[in-house]
Amino acid sequence: MRTLDTVNFSNKKVLIRVDFNVPLDENKRVTDHTRIKAAKPTIDKVLADGGSCLLMTHFGRPKGVDDKLSLRHIVSEIQKVLGVDIQFSKHTIGPEAQAQARSLQPGQVMLLENLRFYDEETKGDEQFANALSTLADCYINDAFGTAHRAHASTTIVAQFFPKEKYFGYLLAQEIDAIDRVMSTGEKPVLAVLGGAKVSSKITIIENILDKVDHLIIGGGMSFTFAKAKGGQIGNSICEDDKLELALSILRSAKEKGVQIHLPTDVVAGDQFSNEANQQIFPIDQIPDGWEGMDAGPETVAAFREVVLQSKTILWNGPLGVFEFSHFSQGTIALGEAISASTKNGAFSLVGGGDSVAAVKQFNMENEVSYVSTGGGAMLESLEGKTLPGIAAILV
Ligand code: AMP
Repeated sequence: MRTLDTVNFSNKKVLIRVDFNVPLDENKRVTDHTRIKAAKPTIDKVLADGGSCLLMTHFGRPKGVDDKLSLRHIVSEIQKVLGVDIQFSKHTIGPEAQAQARSLQPGQVMLLENLRFYDEETKGDEQFANALSTLADCYINDAFGTAHRAHASTTIVAQFFPKEKYFGYLLAQEIDAIDRVMSTGEKPVLAVLGGAKVSSKITIIENILDKVDHLIIGGGMSFTFAKAKGGQIGNSICEDDKLELALSILRSAKEKGVQIHLPTDVVAGDQFSNEANQQIFPIDQIPDGWEGMDAGPETVAAFREVVLQSKTILWNGPLGVFEFSHFSQGTIALGEAISASTKNGAFSLVGGGDSVAAVKQFNMENEVSYVSTGGGAMLESLEGKTLPGIAAILV
């Protein structure tokens, strides 16, 4: 992989695809700066070399030009987080954007208006990508969150920089983290998959069975497995059309020598609410009127042991309905176990949607080795797909 450290950007204008699609509150204040902070090392590198940066990003899902989704609203916050002045270009492409790009001096940063004001962006239009490419000398993709999309700025534009296209530091880190879980990490390798449904994780499970030594299946998904094995799961969430699939996953794991760990007990509620009455049951003996909403104490202790023995850990999906504080203990305990294992030298990657939300909510971001910035992109990587944004840099 060609990293930025092998390149000097002195006097180069560098078009950088970042992901500044940040959440805003009703006063248009950015509520989570993670994505902006994540792009800083790449921007700093280009500036330190004596190059200039042309930042481009999408922001929300506008249909055509929509002032509410103009990046001008967040320029001052981006400046603060990056610690540099930013020249905002009201135009994404065209003569005005070109003139502004031409006048950019080494050490300066310019931000182009929202890429998605143009339909051409998501369509992966070549002319639009070409117009973007005329603004700069080199291209860096540092937007992992959109690397699974073959959009103009994430994929198509790369072809116009056949010798001058690079992975930014963030993208390189994400690729490295996934590689460690999928192939290069120290054994034993463990994947913890939780969340609501088997159906949304099935491709990941199938792909990952060839890569891991241990697989913990927790959360809502585990009830489909418990029922498939003949258990009584009460009112717990279950996909009845996936029972056969669950059994075939268990068989396939056995053939491949992967140890699967399923919950043995659950904290159940008598209704789907934080205020529900709680009782602990074996996972295969949940009475009607009760539904499993969190991992039970025996399960938490067993999962902790597996986590502590593992040297490479992937965590995707919560062990229970962690949004309800009374049913969040299993998910918190798992996070604590991963944190302890990480302190003992394991590599831990948390990625894909809700487990990232959980880690942030419980302030465990700094306790794990790496928290992915990409939801869909991470899930597709774990499914074994080659992301178009990554492939475009490699060809
Ligand atoms: P996913 O997006 O597939 O990772 O699923 C995350 C969601 O699964 C979260 O919103 C959790 O509340 C939900 N979840 C986890 N465990 C359970 C459970 N036992 N019953 C219902 N929902 C669950």
